[in-house]
Amino acid sequence: MILEWLEARRAGQEQSEEDIVGFVNGVLDESITRAQAAAWLSFVYCNGMSDKEIVYLTKAMTDSGDKMSWPQSDSKLIDKHSTGGVGDKVSLILAPLWAELGYRVPMISGRGLGITGGTLDKLESIQGYRTDLSDDELRSQLDSVGCFISGQTSTLAPADKFLYALRNETATVPSIALITGSILSKKLAEGVEELVLDVKCGSGAFMKTRTEARALADALTRVGNLSGVITKAHITDMFEPLGCAVGNALEVEESIACLKGHGPKRLVDLIVELSGDGDRAREILSSGRAYERFERMVSAQGGDLSKPLLGSGCERVVIHADRSGTVRSCDAESIGRAAFVLGGGRSRAVDSIHHGVGVLVHAHCNDSVEEGEPLATVVHAGKGLNEAINHVNAAFELGEI
Ligand code: URA
Repeated sequence: MILEWLEARRAGQEQSEEDIVGFVNGVLDESITRAQAAAWLSFVYCNGMSDKEIVYLTKAMTDSGDKMSWPQSDSKLIDKHSTGGVGDKVSLILAPLWAELGYRVPMISGRGLGITGGTLDKLESIQGYRTDLSDDELRSQLDSVGCFISGQTSTLAPADKFLYALRNETATVPSIALITGSILSKKLAEGVEELVLDVKCGSGAFMKTRTEARALADALTRVGNLSGVITKAHITDMFEPLGCAVGNALEVEESIACLKGHGPKRLVDLIVELSGDGDRAREILSSGRAYERFERMVSAQGGDLSKPLLGSGCERVVIHADRSGTVRSCDAESIGRAAFVLGGGRSRAVDSIHHGVGVLVHAHCNDSVEEGEPLATVVHAGKGLNEAINHVNAAFELGEI
């Protein structure tokens, strides 16, 4: 059977739901070998899949594990997913904000890999914060606080876990069909009714061009809605870092400022846009109510905001403008690389990270700067400092005033 499935995929023929479910189950029960699964992924990478097939793949991967279910309530279940970027701390702010807007937010998040930060790594800068809540704890916290941000359990979409790792080994990650199935399978397993997708576009993102980002956003929206979840996708800029802080604890500090109504404009504007409830969202952020909800979430998950964030006490080096001009570029990828070489990111899932290091960006695109003004501050613990400074210098391009 598997050879027929492979021949069909190689020829670009549409597969039935039964065949796709058979493939996903065969991967998990090992009746399909890794070589066969890798060939199937390569054929999908080259030939793509129809929307119908992506719906079947998504459902099969969701069904490969446990699905969360929540008590009936008038409060809608909502979540968001970002395709990842540099300085993207939106989840930390949007989850409590949505809870304050009356939604329930069962947010399962991941860790960072490469230059892209991870929500769990950021939250773990808070001493005591637990990201391994049990099903009972998740249920009770969603009921009492209205939101949680916790980690993926081993029983959530295990087929995606296996196939994602194999895609990493076989250069088949950047496939619209496979990315769509992978992201949605995990979100569908959370049992949400509404999903907001933030597809990042730019040097610091997975999707480097608007055309690629549009294609992914459209596929996610179509397949999400066909799968029964109200799905909206936004394409947002990742040519420069989001906000001013890049690095785990630094981003928690900026998130707290934002939750208290003092966030940088670009970050606040994006959160308000994604929230879907502009005026009320702005009002809740400036009133500090979102921060109170965040405190409740953190404390329910064991975190102690009265203690210093992990990694505090790092040294700082300020990078100054060597001439006056207008900032033409503050390249997200270069700033992300700087934070990464300082030890703030990991190249393999098992690597440990430093929570305190990173970069604070002071000058953004289109800002005018005078010679000697600070462009950025490198927050470091010794490791990778010179390389980080080179990346930060390379990130900035100054044009005429
Ligand atoms: N994130 C995911 O969860 N899956 C992908 O395939 C890509 C990004």
